[in-house]
Amino acid sequence: MEATAQQILKDYYGYDTFRRGQAEVIEHVMKNENTLAIMPTGGGKSICYQVPALMRQGTALIISPLISLMKDQVDALTAMDIPAAYINSTLEAAEMEWTMQQAAQGAFTFLYVAPERLENTRFLQMVRRISISLIAFDEAHCISQWGHDFRPSYRSATSILEKLTETPPVMALTATATPQVADDIQRLLDIQEDFTTRTGFARDNLRFQVVKGAGKERYILDFIQKRKQDTGIIYAPTRKLVDQLSLFLDRQGVKTAKYHAGMSEADRQAAQSSFIQDEVSVMIATNAFGMGIDKSNVRYVLHYALPMNMEAYYQEAGRAGRDGEPSDCVLLFSGQDVHLLKFLIENSSSDTQAEYQKLQQMMNYCHTQSCLQTYMLHYFQDPHIPEDCGRCSNCLNEFEKTDMTREAQMVLSCVKRMDERFGAVLVAKVLKGSKDKRIKQFGLENLSTYGIMRNRTEKDITQFIHYLSAEMILAPTDDKYPVLTLTDEAVQILKGEKKVMMQIAKATETAEADYDEA
Ligand code: ADP
Repeated sequence: MEATAQQILKDYYGYDTFRRGQAEVIEHVMKNENTLAIMPTGGGKSICYQVPALMRQGTALIISPLISLMKDQVDALTAMDIPAAYINSTLEAAEMEWTMQQAAQGAFTFLYVAPERLENTRFLQMVRRISISLIAFDEAHCISQWGHDFRPSYRSATSILEKLTETPPVMALTATATPQVADDIQRLLDIQEDFTTRTGFARDNLRFQVVKGAGKERYILDFIQKRKQDTGIIYAPTRKLVDQLSLFLDRQGVKTAKYHAGMSEADRQAAQSSFIQDEVSVMIATNAFGMGIDKSNVRYVLHYALPMNMEAYYQEAGRAGRDGEPSDCVLLFSGQDVHLLKFLIENSSSDTQAEYQKLQQMMNYCHTQSCLQTYMLHYFQDPHIPEDCGRCSNCLNEFEKTDMTREAQMVLSCVKRMDERFGAVLVAKVLKGSKDKRIKQFGLENLSTYGIMRNRTEKDITQFIHYLSAEMILAPTDDKYPVLTLTDEAVQILKGEKKVMMQIAKATETAEADYDEA
């Protein structure tokens, strides 16, 4: 079968070799084994289900929550003379009818549907009557409530497997699955761990950067002007910011498209297609943009502000460089961003404690001094963690190592004396010896650590506290107002059993930070 799969890869797609993991996944499917494929964005998941579907008899049912992607996929397949169609809410009644009739005759090699479709009795009856070559659950993390994009209808869709007369092989494909999410997918779709392929999340062509303290609009303008030939996406956290930024760039004579959920469907479509078709090279958008956008030549993704969690960041930033060419992912960090995110968390219906924990880990990404790629891979519990990437802003920064053990001991003993009941801001104020009224109110001016760091600025001290959290020496609680607690490592440092060697950037744009988060 290997030769045949290889032949199809060559004949239909024009590629000579499979990418990492693809052949293994295809082999499982051809042996009728249910399979989970966890591959990074751009890793080539489509080929994992398309090649076996082309080798098997019958119609492949592809379930995808991404309506925009369905059309692109179907267009691409049709262009290769492969019979393919999609059924979703965007179809007119007549088109729907025609597609259903054709499908009932087994006319399609690929049939793409949204999860909701599986609740439709007529559709189910049709599917039961035709021969199904395989069922692929694309973006399978949406099945799991532990995922960052849980869709209840997607979870219900998994029950289709009990309703079928035959049992075709089932595939689940995703780019973002923590072990918990992977477990969930395996359980719901009856996939064995042995038939799970993980290629690792590392994207060797992406350069991650965190930029602190920059004037954001200026930075973005300069960046775009230096990269006039390149296509990029700028993510902003709110519709209002998208509008503001697009107005600012427009006034500077930079042509951009914008996309957010507050725009009409027609305007969004127009913006999206002008970007996809390279009529405009910069897209400014909220996170509403991009789910399923298969634009391979995106050279940079800039984040105007901190995203809510690492999953969202990796997914959005990961839209850069899907063609494998070197691309940049820049996150502009400022302490103010955190307030907005906390507000959003407070007003969301999800598990706030879990969200705060994720936000803290996102902030740690901005404060860490380790390789950014390595940080992410640890976060996703990637089993294949390569060497430090050598490309990210932390790897490229020239650092000098300085012994900060004494300063760390001052901070840690202050946290301890404050009974691990306060957050970074108040701890910094005590260390600074501030006259803030809360200090009096809690009687903190009598502590022996009051004012022991008075020769430093409060901002400096706060920054150092964040560094200690990012290095997991301090452990902030998962709350709206995180309280600092000591880790085992902190105890060792206090006892003088361990040193804190901090890297100080030699002189870079990250040197001047603006920290003011609570
Ligand atoms: P994913 O869904 O995993 O994000 P895609 O399936 O969209 O990725 O593939 C990303 C890009 O990589 C596409 O342009 C695809 O044609 C290309 N690609 C996939 N497999 C191969 C391969 N074996 N050799 C070369 N290019 C490939």
